[in-house]
Amino acid sequence: MSHRLVRARLPSRQRGRPGALAQRRKATKKQSLRTGRGLVEPAKARGPGFWNDVRMSHGQQTERVSRRVAGITESATLAVDAKAKALKAAGRPVIGFGAGEPDFPTPDYIVAAAEAACRDPRNHRYTPTGGLPELREAIAAKTARDSGLQVSPAQVLVTNGGKQALYEAFATLLDPGDEALLPAPYWTTYPESIRLAGGVPVEVVTDESSGYLVSTDQLEAALTPRTKLLVFVSPSNPTGAVYPPAEVARIGQWAADRGIWVVTDEIYEHLVYGEAHFTSMPVAVPELAQRCVVVNGVAKTYAMTGWRVGWLLGPPDVVNAAANLQSHATSNVANVSQVAALAALRGDLSAVAMMREAFDRRRQTIVRLLRDIPGVTCPEPEGAFYAYPSVQDVLGKEIRGRRPESSAALCDLALEEVEVAMVPGEAFGTPGYVRLSYALGDDDLAEGVARLHKLFAEAR
Ligand code: PMP
Repeated sequence: MSHRLVRARLPSRQRGRPGALAQRRKATKKQSLRTGRGLVEPAKARGPGFWNDVRMSHGQQTERVSRRVAGITESATLAVDAKAKALKAAGRPVIGFGAGEPDFPTPDYIVAAAEAACRDPRNHRYTPTGGLPELREAIAAKTARDSGLQVSPAQVLVTNGGKQALYEAFATLLDPGDEALLPAPYWTTYPESIRLAGGVPVEVVTDESSGYLVSTDQLEAALTPRTKLLVFVSPSNPTGAVYPPAEVARIGQWAADRGIWVVTDEIYEHLVYGEAHFTSMPVAVPELAQRCVVVNGVAKTYAMTGWRVGWLLGPPDVVNAAANLQSHATSNVANVSQVAALAALRGDLSAVAMMREAFDRRRQTIVRLLRDIPGVTCPEPEGAFYAYPSVQDVLGKEIRGRRPESSAALCDLALEEVEVAMVPGEAFGTPGYVRLSYALGDDDLAEGVARLHKLFAEAR
């Protein structure tokens, strides 16, 4: 099954007429309800509930803010995390499953390198846009070591996190109207970044019955003459799904045969559990390399989310074009962060091995506890640090005098009633699910799921 995401629009003759704003608000609201977009409360808005009052915000903005940017919603995952952190700071015993970041500090040797870098005046200056030459070399070496992909330092562009790498990849590859195949559930940033580039995200919906894995038959059915690229991520945020090597090869070959680009996000490459294996698509399908952009970064592997260092790898023409874009947007990544990333990449992988062990333990705990909750179905995630259970059997029932009809309403209820923060599936293109990050302490994890259990068990 697939469907296109189409922005709600009034006929052009109605724009700018009296009453048009109200109509546009209505159109935006309708569309929000249909697609789940626009369901996030802007950080500054104050409503009675976290997920309330938000559907008007885009309509209100369109008079003053460009349509392109007014159509973008705030990152739902960051919004949930910010709300949980604010409540915690106010003394509330909130348990946050919203965060998309390891709960470990950055390893000491990395921090020490950054401290020294602060005192070196060379780092008080601009560097080349593409990044410190030694960092680009280290990224090329790390890529060969970890995934087997051979790239030259000139094929590396150092960016402000994987997020900027994705933004630049889409901006560099997509012309207005070009379609990007986007398997859902998808990480909340992809469709917004594609839209900002003028592209059209085309959802290809998967569910727990396939372990959230998209098939080439589904991709084929969504293909049109405007299809320019496919977004691929394994291990996946939000589902934790990991594609088996043969599936990575099958999908990569499908894209290569049809001349479709692939933007593949490898940021969780080191967080795989049990029998699962990470496979890099351009390694599995070498002929794809000329039409493939790889996105990665230090955030998840070295607990460095706040340092903002990522990169993209690709064919030289694309990397050069993306660097031109970055030269006018943000120039180089902060030097101190680049030196910290260099220390991380020159070191070993023992920090991520330690984190992987802790995440694996929590993964098994959270799956066991979630499966015990009536109405919750939880497939086993094999990578990253998220569980993505279905809560569809809880919806529509009465809990504490309310009847949540959507996963967004259920998340609202859980935050208000038992002070547990989760991100609703609406943020990932699949209402009816919730995302819980298990990158939090073991005790908090057990207590948080116990609170949910008690609350959901009240459903009548
Ligand atoms: N890709 C995926 C799938 C992610 O989950 C994230 C972080 N949540 C990123 C990219 C971006 O990471 P960063 O910008 O912090 O490097």
